[in-house]
Amino acid sequence: MGSQLKLSANALTVLEKRYLTKENTKVVEKPEEMFRRVAKNIANVEKEFGTDKESIKEVEEKFYELMVSLDFLPNSPTLMNAGKDLQQLAACFVLPVEDSMESIFETIKNAALIHKSGGGTGFSFSRLRPANDRVQSTGGVASGPISFMKVFNSATEVVKQGGTRRGANMAILRVDHPDILEFITAKEKGEELTNFNISIGLTEEFMDAVMDGRDYPLINPQNGKVVKRISAAKVFGMIVEAAHKNGEPGIVFLDRINDENPTPNLGEIESTNPCGEQPLLPYEACNLGSINLSNMVKEGELDFERLKKTVELSVRFLDNTLQASKYPLEKIKQMVRGNRKIGLGVMGFADCLIKLKIPYDSEKAINMAEKIMEFIQYYSKECSQKLAQDRGAFPNFADSLYSQKGIEIRNATTTTIAPTGTISIISGVSSGVEPLFAVCYKRNVLDNESLVEVHPLFEQIAKERDFYSEELMEKIAQKGSVAGVLEVPEDVQKLFVTAHEISPRRHIEIQSAFQRHTDNAVSKTVNFKSDATKEDISEVFIQSYKLKCKGVTVYRDGSRDAQVLTVGDKK
Ligand code: UDP
Repeated sequence: MGSQLKLSANALTVLEKRYLTKENTKVVEKPEEMFRRVAKNIANVEKEFGTDKESIKEVEEKFYELMVSLDFLPNSPTLMNAGKDLQQLAACFVLPVEDSMESIFETIKNAALIHKSGGGTGFSFSRLRPANDRVQSTGGVASGPISFMKVFNSATEVVKQGGTRRGANMAILRVDHPDILEFITAKEKGEELTNFNISIGLTEEFMDAVMDGRDYPLINPQNGKVVKRISAAKVFGMIVEAAHKNGEPGIVFLDRINDENPTPNLGEIESTNPCGEQPLLPYEACNLGSINLSNMVKEGELDFERLKKTVELSVRFLDNTLQASKYPLEKIKQMVRGNRKIGLGVMGFADCLIKLKIPYDSEKAINMAEKIMEFIQYYSKECSQKLAQDRGAFPNFADSLYSQKGIEIRNATTTTIAPTGTISIISGVSSGVEPLFAVCYKRNVLDNESLVEVHPLFEQIAKERDFYSEELMEKIAQKGSVAGVLEVPEDVQKLFVTAHEISPRRHIEIQSAFQRHTDNAVSKTVNFKSDATKEDISEVFIQSYKLKCKGVTVYRDGSRDAQVLTVGDKK
């Protein structure tokens, strides 16, 4: 008990910019006070569950300790908004887009409200009739999904000025929608739809047709009629080409996601949140939180006792957030409180491996990924079952797959691997389950700020093993990686392997290992060097399919003007 909060300069910059309470642009909250505000707010809701006053105080202390030790952090909206008027705590939402003007513009309004509160929104545009289809009421022609996406994009652009952070959107279009070809290349030019990530919703039927070299049907969602049949391989090739060009679109495997939909009677899952890790039903939201794996290593071994305690407390924390959160719409509240999905994941996996002396690019790393996530999954479920005994199962339980299995559980899902883009900076560890991007790197965060860092574990080892020098760090910073740098011992070179040196296959194998023990999805980008070929991208898409991932994103270095991570000096 009684951890000292240790924050890097970068972490403080991020916190001051958006997380700590301000009065007239002046920061009036210390980071410890932020964690206190959150802990108190999230513990207090236990009144509703009959926890007595004294125990609530104990729970508050435990939550405070959980965060101040940086063993676990909830997603950004919880840190920003808990205990404040806004009190909107979830990072991920999915809203429906039905084929009517009312639905489209109602959803634009609701998305704006969500963005204002720091949440991201995902939409499937698959129900909209294709461009040039007839509009009965006017006798005119429909504009189609892509033109409506532009309206969503503009609304997001306007709201982002006043919101807690930039609103992010995901657009998904099923591969069998007649406008799919236009959708695939919708972001090709780079300047349009900048507030959207786009992903193609792939079906098993489509993937089978790709594998067998067959045609597949494009279907008008309005009337179910086949518009035409086209070559699946050709469409797959176009997706690969666009992704090779600038990293978009990503892909998601819709049938696979629905095979694991815990509440199929409530509807089909058609979309994910903006970064892809959280498939949700329309009007559903999810609160995420991540365990810092780097903190779970003690004397070169994984401390499973500490991990177990952290999982248990984190699940309780996240279940409480569902109660503490205000929702922008009554319908969302109903859905969220009905299914009570939470998404516990991890950050600092790459750092954890370094401390365990396991190179990311090894069989051992895959085994470790699996062992850790299997453990987290197991105890998150055990804890959710205990909560169900005290607080009741999630209200839609009787209508869920869990009821068929006879397992009373509090949350329809318990695990998700988030990107942890900001909370990993606050914690000072590698993001999500990604490998190191560079041993020394520049990071562009929160709009236009750039941060420079030498990896702290590398600095530590370099000093311990007596090869540290300022000049060497600068030299490494130029290219980011230590591969082939003679001053660095070979075993250290292997341990500090970076994303571009890791084979795409390994990236996918790690993703797949985590996915095997994760209810929702795994956020993962396969980072390629700039000279990667279309065949390399195609291979990764196929492998992600074969290894049962729920989706994947690729990115080829230098293929976009503004990228989140850069190595060396960019002119
Ligand atoms: N998100 C968003 N806007 C952002 C970053 C994230 O709306 O600028 C949402 C989005 O749904 C994303 C989720 O938050 O998938 C989790 O992202 P991440 O783990 O990077 O968030 P963090 O909690 O670290 O800020």
